[in-house]
Amino acid sequence: MKSLAPQASFGGGRVLAADYAWEEEGLFISVRLDGEVWEFRDREILDPRYTAVDRQRRIKERVRLGIRRLFERVYGLAESPWGILEGVRPMKMVHAMLDRGFPPEELRGILLEVYALSPKKAQLLLEVAAKQRPYFHANPNNPISIYVGIPFCPTRCSYCSFAAYPLATHGHLLKGFLQALHREIEAVGGLIKELQLQVESVYLGGGTPTTVQGAELERLLSLMRENLFTAETREFTVEAGRPETLSRDTLRLLKEGGAQRICINPQTMHDATLQAIGRKHTVAQVREAFALAREVGIPLINMDIILGLPGEELAQVRGTLEEIAALGPDNLTVHSLALKRASTLRKNLEQVYIAQEQGEAMVDLARDYALSWGMQPYYLYRQRHILGDLENIGYALPGTHSIYNIQMMEERQSILALGGGGVSKLVAPDLTLRRQVNPKCPAAYSAQINEHLADKLKLLREHFSGSGPNSN
Ligand code: SF4
Repeated sequence: MKSLAPQASFGGGRVLAADYAWEEEGLFISVRLDGEVWEFRDREILDPRYTAVDRQRRIKERVRLGIRRLFERVYGLAESPWGILEGVRPMKMVHAMLDRGFPPEELRGILLEVYALSPKKAQLLLEVAAKQRPYFHANPNNPISIYVGIPFCPTRCSYCSFAAYPLATHGHLLKGFLQALHREIEAVGGLIKELQLQVESVYLGGGTPTTVQGAELERLLSLMRENLFTAETREFTVEAGRPETLSRDTLRLLKEGGAQRICINPQTMHDATLQAIGRKHTVAQVREAFALAREVGIPLINMDIILGLPGEELAQVRGTLEEIAALGPDNLTVHSLALKRASTLRKNLEQVYIAQEQGEAMVDLARDYALSWGMQPYYLYRQRHILGDLENIGYALPGTHSIYNIQMMEERQSILALGGGGVSKLVAPDLTLRRQVNPKCPAAYSAQINEHLADKLKLLREHFSGSGPNSN
């Protein structure tokens, strides 16, 4: 309640209450706040395509809508473009409805009416769903995808919440970490062969994997190719991330190591902001790394930007997008800054309101640029405490969608995660998930590798061979 309307006060006889009843004509909901009442009779939920679980969920959804509507009346709560849709993966709900047989046009109406989405967001979800569905497979456990995490970075960005240890303070752990990682790659590779798993996509992320350089990088890439790739592997992405790690030699190693897609992430094309957020590289280095990557022949380049960075308004975002236009990447990923301290949001409603309006304008601007380059949105997710209640969107030129990003986000394919902080997601045929988490800290990862591998291999064998609770 407080996060919806920080000025709301309760107690002293103020009551918020909700009732529901299943009647012949549908679900009846009544929500009351002091003298104000919101009532609704939902007939649509009687549609036979809905399951018993959907009907249970609908009670909560309607109550949530009622509370929102009353808060708009009583506390002047602004409408949210995402309505009552909560959680970080709005696409999952859309896909579940498409699975149940609701055609997109009918689904659009439900998104507007039940979830109170703005027409723009409803359109976005349907567009993205149409791009993603051809990538879904009947079996979530064959093919699979692979993630390998390198939890080191040149420096730590001030907004970072990933497994990322700065080289200056943790570089001495890199060697031991790589030795342990090699063991994990060989062990998981053995299992892939034994169980005859097909690997569709491989992602080397982090952190910044290109903090590993020279012969060590070459060895890592060749071990990955030998052990984790199969005849079906269609995509290999390296999150090269920080441009200061990308010399011509490093980029050549990536190309020779089979990287078809790399990410060079400026976040902003303004030096002052880069310094302010602790990135310690320059805009010139981004341009140079991009040109070198094209020169060595890496087929696809993605660039990440963040909207709402400190000190940046619409003009700065426009400047960044103009610079990126001049480079011409194949993919653009647009993040909205996720503000980690929820308390800051709660304390200052006015600030949040401004952020929401500005954030929306920035999101629209980035979308206009991406569309003008011929890109289309193909995946999206949200984060907690994200600027202006917005979203992160991946755009791609036709035919350059990242398979890994789609599979990882929609959780319809098992993903085996190796390395620091990797979270394996094992998907059951009914699309329920079991997770297995690798230690984030490189010292813990190296020290625990033996027990960790024993547990992991047991779990994976159970899952893939049919004896586990979530297996096929
Ligand atoms: S480059 Fe990425 S992973 Fe590394 S510190 Fe910055 S935000 Fe975190």
